[in-house]
Amino acid sequence: MRLLPALAFGTLMLPLAAQANEPHSYAQPDQVVVTHLDLNLKVDFPHRQLDGRATLTLDWKNPKATTLVLDTRDLKIASIEAVDAKGKTRALTYVLAPADKQLGSKLTIQTPKRPHEVRIAYVTSPDASGLQWLPPAQTADKKQPFMFSQSESIHARSWVPLQDSPAIRFTWDAHVTAPKNLRVLMSAPNNPQHPLDGTFDFKQTHPVPSYLLAIAAGDIDVKETGPRSAVYAEPSVVGKAAHEFEDTEKMIATAEKLYGPYRWGRYDILVLPPSFPYGGMENPNMTFATPTVLVGDKSLVSLVAHELAHSWSGNLVTAASWRDIWLNEGITTYVQGRITEALYGKRQADEETLLSIHALQKSIGSMSANSQRLAPQPRDISADDSLSDVAYDKGSWFMRMLEQKFGRKDFDTYLKSYFNHFAWHSITTEQMLAFLKPNLIDKYPGKMRWAEVKDWVYGTGIPKDAPIPDSPRFDAIDKERTAFLAGTLPATKLDAKSWNTQEWMYFLDRLPDAPPLAKMQQLDAAWHLTGTPNAEIGMRWYSHAIAAGDKAAWPAAAEHMTRIGRLYLTMPLYAAFAKTPDGLAYAEQVYAKAKAGYHPLTQQAVEALFAKAKAKQPDAK
Ligand SMILES: [Zn+2]
Repeated sequence: MRLLPALAFGTLMLPLAAQANEPHSYAQPDQVVVTHLDLNLKVDFPHRQLDGRATLTLDWKNPKATTLVLDTRDLKIASIEAVDAKGKTRALTYVLAPADKQLGSKLTIQTPKRPHEVRIAYVTSPDASGLQWLPPAQTADKKQPFMFSQSESIHARSWVPLQDSPAIRFTWDAHVTAPKNLRVLMSAPNNPQHPLDGTFDFKQTHPVPSYLLAIAAGDIDVKETGPRSAVYAEPSVVGKAAHEFEDTEKMIATAEKLYGPYRWGRYDILVLPPSFPYGGMENPNMTFATPTVLVGDKSLVSLVAHELAHSWSGNLVTAASWRDIWLNEGITTYVQGRITEALYGKRQADEETLLSIHALQKSIGSMSANSQRLAPQPRDISADDSLSDVAYDKGSWFMRMLEQKFGRKDFDTYLKSYFNHFAWHSITTEQMLAFLKPNLIDKYPGKMRWAEVKDWVYGTGIPKDAPIPDSPRFDAIDKERTAFLAGTLPATKLDAKSWNTQEWMYFLDRLPDAPPLAKMQQLDAAWHLTGTPNAEIGMRWYSHAIAAGDKAAWPAAAEHMTRIGRLYLTMPLYAAFAKTPDGLAYAEQVYAKAKAGYHPLTQQAVEALFAKAKAKQPDAK
């Protein structure tokens, strides 16, 4: 997935479930594991619910086990039955525990005979944390409703009762019905020619963890971009998206050359409505992506490189628990950089690396010691909070450190062997280290001490010798920014005509937190940043303009916040507004209008931010 905003907007700490394996799941994989899921779903737009029947195939690990424990959240259970080999069913008794705020409701099913299959009939809640239901007005084309899921980290349980832990992998198939003329897509091979007849069947033959279950339905058109790739989006968006993502086949071929074959068959991309709370989600066979990367010049397509890279790091070799999530995100961010470098050159790859380094350097100091570790002590970190800058940016930095110490050729060989060795498995940090030691560190003695490796993985902060790429263009921008702020270079004389998106991001990132208002006005007069269609630039511009007290930028900032529900691009504006009582009051008005178009995760994040700001400003009612 990419990208969550830094911990400042994170969710609450999770209380610890009593299981030894994954603290964010009630599942008991030492007793029984789900090996296959057969799903039957009806997409019910009027009631904003999925009408579901989930049949779980079970592998009993304990021959004396008497219960099956599953994760659920806000599900209404209609019936639960055991299914025998001949298809005969028998009702089972069960207890659905009161909901834990973070973990949902533990579902305990009495299974004294340890059936081969258990079938659960249920409906989801209109407020399911893993689903968003958009009325037509909140889509690009405004004709049909749209729905989509976001299961990572622990939200699959809000639309399917299952063992919701990344350590447990299962194959699945699904039969889905939806209103005619709408298209249903899932995280399995999809057929671009499928008729819109209201009935769709899916089969995921590879074992995947629950957080990679995904579904979407809406007025979705398709355009093929290569022999094994297509772009799906609303009709008015699909052409633009196909153009932006036309290099997809080149990206797949580049990754294959480095790390071995793409093993999933098709690689498609679904561009969602702007309320999608993340940049992208690596759902197998079908990346879900934000439309905010459709800027016309491919300058933000490293998002696709990132989600595609997850086909190796994350989906093929998976972190066994949320505490180990850096294995997914750190390695993926490294691989993303390699794909970007191969296709768009070292300048862009290095610039993206530097932006990630600077973001981490800025954020890591305000994190707790435990959150600064790649592999934190699991008891003190929540599932969503695990997906922090540390997992992405420190994780990829560690990979670049290894590349530098061992040389690109030997490190590439190592990483390919790592993917092959652990293919289709979920592993812990310690399993990764046990493979790293003999196959890289000890194999080429004298290049890196084991203590250094452990410092990267278990230490706080950033090791002193962490490599930082050179960027002459960023250096030149630093000089221009300094001269502009000192008054020796007018805004109109900045060399910004030649800046790409990353260079604008860098220029804006390093402005003072609250720049002088006059300077912001000069910049805007010269470069027309207010109203920019590029949301990466907009997010940085508006945050600084708000902090500078530039009220003229407020309406355009409000438009940005209303149009985009992606956490990373919207939350910094709320945070900037919330610093003053006036700004907070304005942000609350904006939110009142924008809320209906936001994903539940974005709503939660904004409301938590308001509550925090009000606690600090007792006078601001
Ligand atoms: Zn990711």
